[in-house]
Amino acid sequence: MSNPRLPDDAIRPTRVEVNLAQIARNYQSLAALAPGARVMAVVKANAYGHGMVATALELQRIGAHCLGVALLEEAEELRRAGVMLPILVFGGISEVQIPRFLQNDLTLTAPSIEKLDLIDRAAASLGVRARVHLKVDTGMERLGMHHDTAPRLLEASLKAMHVQIEGIYSHLACADEEDLSYTHLQLQRFAEVCAFYTRRGLPMPTRHIANSAALLRLPQSHLDMVRPGIALYGCEPGPACPLPAALRPALCWKSHVAYFKVVRANSPVSYGGTWSRGHDVRMVTVPVGYGDGYFRSLSNVGEVLIGGQRHGIAGRVCMDQVMINLERGSAYYRDEVVLLGSQGDQEIRAEEVASRAGSIAYEVLTNINSRVPRVHHHDGVPAQSV
Ligand SMILES: *Cc1c(COP(=O)(O)O)cnc(C)c1O
Repeated sequence: MSNPRLPDDAIRPTRVEVNLAQIARNYQSLAALAPGARVMAVVKANAYGHGMVATALELQRIGAHCLGVALLEEAEELRRAGVMLPILVFGGISEVQIPRFLQNDLTLTAPSIEKLDLIDRAAASLGVRARVHLKVDTGMERLGMHHDTAPRLLEASLKAMHVQIEGIYSHLACADEEDLSYTHLQLQRFAEVCAFYTRRGLPMPTRHIANSAALLRLPQSHLDMVRPGIALYGCEPGPACPLPAALRPALCWKSHVAYFKVVRANSPVSYGGTWSRGHDVRMVTVPVGYGDGYFRSLSNVGEVLIGGQRHGIAGRVCMDQVMINLERGSAYYRDEVVLLGSQGDQEIRAEEVASRAGSIAYEVLTNINSRVPRVHHHDGVPAQSV
């Protein structure tokens, strides 16, 4: 094929193109896989690199139930951008932040009796009712009241008059592993904690524990709500969790050819001179580097697509540039270079980049930093910029 070219527009040639329509289709597919459950779309960490505000507005537009983020600051940014959906903040909270949650009608995570009490008092003094999800630790050892002592948190929550316990949740540590026995143990512990409500004849808050891996692999984990993150963006949680065909990546990371030259035999390329060949090769320089979040560990092992073909990274990835060996191939100034995504019939997936770099798809995506502009579209039709 002839080499595709990037449009010569005002945006930096190194860019991330995000197909919001694909995220919407992924959301619908995931919702169909968990028919009895609501879906909390996880948009933390800039929607796994896809642009948090644009992604959240798209999810709101298609009728998503609610959103999950890690930080208060992320939730506040969504509210400022006009997102009105319920937003649960997963992370720990500090006392001084509580009024900001309440002023923005955000849903708080209560991981302890002490924090629940602080939320209750802050809500009382503001004359509002706080929306709260209780957090139970069933084996992640991260955040939440241990499952064996959790009944005390549930008990305390019955007496907190200024909080509405809308949900109760836990997080799975090993749902993407081959061996699901620890996940079954966590599910069982969570069920025992939730039985508190049934035993007392109390209404059950919304129960949720399933991340993408559990959503895909364990229908019994779906409960009342599921919390997919990585699968929403069309990536596998891990090698043991293959994706249904309908879930496709929504992100393409592109750049272009900035410079072409012939590198003479035995001339070392890039810092440290770690790459050379015993014959002349054609080589291009591409304006992307670890300063954009392109892993330096891809030095000498990563591949990109140019002209619909795979070509290897030559030498070390620099902060702002990387050299690509074309061998005898050709490319011209401004030809499109795909770092992540497809070109012609070739595709480079985040999972592949992750395995070359010794990482996971989550990190490949969230590592693409703010120096890389995001361009959003719906199946090729430009989206309103946000
Ligand atoms: C990030 C996160 C998720 C989503 O996890 P995926 O593996 O990306 O699906 C769900 N729940 C919590 C609490 C999280 O922090």
